[in-house]
Formats: sequence, C-alpha cells, structure tokens
Amino acid sequence: MDTAVGGTAPGPDPWAVRLQGVSKGYGRGPGAVVALRDLTINFSRGSFTAVMGPSGAGKSTFLHCAAGLDRPTSGSVRLGGTDLAELTEAELTMLRRERVGFIFQAYNLLSSLTVAENITLPMMLAGGAPDPGWLEQVVRQVGLADRMGHRPAQLSGGQQQRVAIARALITRPEVIFADEPTGALDSRTGRQVLQLLRHVVDSTGHTVVMVTHDPVAASFAHRVVFLADGSFAETMESPTPERVAERMTRLGEW
Ligand code: ADP
Repeated sequence: MDTAVGGTAPGPDPWAVRLQGVSKGYGRGPGAVVALRDLTINFSRGSFTAVMGPSGAGKSTFLHCAAGLDRPTSGSVRLGGTDLAELTEAELTMLRRERVGFIFQAYNLLSSLTVAENITLPMMLAGGAPDPGWLEQVVRQVGLADRMGHRPAQLSGGQQQRVAIARALITRPEVIFADEPTGALDSRTGRQVLQLLRHVVDSTGHTVVMVTHDPVAASFAHRVVFLADGSFAETMESPTPERVAERMTRLGEW
C-alpha cells in the first residue's frame, strides 16, 4: 500500500492525501511541544474519514498540516501527486483555493454576499468561473435551489452549513477538510448535515477528512482514525456511535 508514487506530476494517484512520517513541533527549549509524532496515513479517493482523539491529541495540528495551512517540521504531505513541501507560499495558497475545500464549525460565510455568491466565491478567487452544470448539481444536492438570492442571516444554521458544503464542493477539490462541522448545530440538524456529507462522498466520489469530538458524527464516516498524543492509535472501519464511544473511553477521553 505504500508503493512510491513517482515524482510530483499530477496523475492517477489513488490517494487524495498522503502523510508520510509527519512530525510537528512548536517552540524550542524547555517549553517545546511535539504535537505530531511521525504520522503516516493515506486517505484514498472517495473516502470519508473521521479523525478523533482527546483534546490536545494533535487533531488541529494534523488538519493544518494536511491542508497546507501549516508546514510540518519533518515528513511529507502529498495532495494528489503534489508534494506540498515543494510549493512556495503563493503556490500553496493557490492549491488551497483550487484543490482543497474547507468546512468549519462556524460556517464562515460572508454576511454581505448572497448564497449564490458565497458558493461561487472560491472559484472567483481562483480566477475561474463555475461550471454551470456542476453549480446546478451542487445546489440541488444541498437542497438550496430556492435560497440562492438569500443572505446567510436569513438562513437557519443547518442551511448555512449546507451553503458551506456547496462552497467546499464547487471547485471539485481533491479533498474537503471539515473541522467539527456540526459543532454549532442541534443534534437532529447535525445528523441531516452529516447524512448530506456522506451522500456527497458516496455519490460524487469526493474525499472528506473530518475532525470531530462526537461519536455520532464520526459514525457517518467510512472509517475513524484515533489520534492520541500526536500518533494514530488505531483505525475503525464502518464505525457505530457505540463502538466509537467505547474506543474513546479506552483512549481516556472521558
Ligand atoms: P487538538 O486539536 O487535538 O486539541 P492540537 O493540535 O490543538 O490538539 O494541539 C496538540 C498539542 O500542540 C497540544 O499540546 C497543544 O498545546 C500544542 N499546540 C498546538 N498549537 C500550538 C501552538 N501554536 N504553539 C504551541 N503549542 C501548540
């Protein structure tokens, strides 16, 4: 499974994201912290993975390094065929706009823009124009066809998060990173958003990596990877909320 993929040229790489031997430290001297320890993990195309772990386990640091928002101290991160270490800051910014989607707990929509403008913004920032057919499909999939002219304040939390999902999909990114995407939603709305995310993965072949504290949220993923003290402790396929909660208890979360 770890056969080397030659060079950095884009090509039919079965992995959306690969981390190899990634370590990340903060600070120097006696106050130095090692947040990630020699992490190696692959995310295949079309997969939905939840990353769980106790507070301080390194989940945010992992997400930042994997998404090209921060650089690891050592090791390599590849997105498709591209080694992020070989990119300049400007190239990394372009890569994040064009090839990575983000979904945050706080939606991060621009309040002065309409739903349609919020969705197409990443495409505009990347200097492109959305493919009308794909835009229509994405809008239909998230159930917002009749809300395109609304502003975020006119929408419920669940609807705002669906706008954020559409925005993440619009560039057809290599991978979508979601950070506690249902943290601000009530449990029923949260489940609907997660069902949508899972449906998007299964129907369009997009890749989602989601950091969450919530065993129910994690159960919508194809697999859960557990992070403990900067290392991946274990992996669970076809998770259920009960099994995830039990595993978290063993890892000392509660
Ligand atoms: P999690 O998201 O799982 O709570 P983090 O990735 O935020 O974990 O943190 C992992 C470790 O790295 C913790 O010990 C945290 O205190 C430390 N850490 C995170 N960010 C910084 C930073 N900018 N400077 C110093 N230490 C940090």
